[in-house]
Amino acid sequence: MKLLDGKLCAESLVKDISRRVAGYVDSGLRKPHMTVILVGEHAPSESYVKSKITSCKSAGFESALLRFPEQIGEAELLAKIAEINGDHATDGLIVQLPLPKHINPQNIINAIDPVKDIDGFHPTNFGRMTLGQKAFRPATAYGICKLLQFYEIPIKGKHCVVIGRSNIVGKPISIMLSNDFEIGNATVTLAHIETPRELLLDETRRADIIVVAVGIPGFITEDMVKEGVVMIDVGINRLESGKLVGDVDFDGVSEKCSWITPVPGGVGRMTVAALMVNTLMAYTDNFNLE
Ligand code: NAD
Repeated sequence: MKLLDGKLCAESLVKDISRRVAGYVDSGLRKPHMTVILVGEHAPSESYVKSKITSCKSAGFESALLRFPEQIGEAELLAKIAEINGDHATDGLIVQLPLPKHINPQNIINAIDPVKDIDGFHPTNFGRMTLGQKAFRPATAYGICKLLQFYEIPIKGKHCVVIGRSNIVGKPISIMLSNDFEIGNATVTLAHIETPRELLLDETRRADIIVVAVGIPGFITEDMVKEGVVMIDVGINRLESGKLVGDVDFDGVSEKCSWITPVPGGVGRMTVAALMVNTLMAYTDNFNLE
């Protein structure tokens, strides 16, 4: 068993980005700029936002964190987004999810200018990604692809099973792995909560690659996988003890895997790195750079 080291891969990606940024800045351009909107107080969001801002520094980007109280109305938030959409000094805009219940997240996502939508959640980007066109790709799914590419894991012709169909992870990764992309051309099964258990087991037991994003600690057990499987654990679950674990019973399963992502230090790190890749693309598009 070998570890797919998200920390190592993310650092390498961010280092490359910072070199490119230094070149642009040397030629007289401003730095790339990411703006993050955070509404209310939500401990995991605080931690995700912090790692995004830290990663911006490592990449040589400017960043701004705009905090709004939990009670902010949807109209006021939409007005703020419209203002940032019109600001040429911002290349990429993220609205950290989840939002308070009185705000419809889809209205917020739809309001972000697709050219600044570095999360890749806007229907325009999601549609373009699905069609195989140039797009901002949802960061976690894109990060997984980058990680597989970094370790030269063969994808073409493989049987992948994705478990979980969220718009931010399961759905996009299932599309990306099946599309005729550089990292793609796999045969993909997308399983979800309505997948009968027996069918799920049939699929996971013959999968070459499993991507699991269900949010249930220990969901994937040793008896569910074949020898040599590549295991991508997207789950981030905090146990009562405070320990952070994924969706895979790591101790039981890892021995059977050819490759496996650790939690933490796997997909989470790649999500942030992929956001940096997207931000650089927003910036180079903004300045018509190669
Ligand atoms: P979600 O929480 O919105 O939905 C869970 C998904 O799991 C659903 O699609 C559901 O159909 C499926 N599911 C639930 N029980 C199942 C079962 N018994 N069998 C088959 N499918 C089942 O999904 P999400 O937002 O993608 O989050 C999933 C996990 O990934 C969470 O732990 C979350 O914290 C984590 N996550 C990690 C990152 C990262 O960067 N590493 C990013 C996003 C989400």
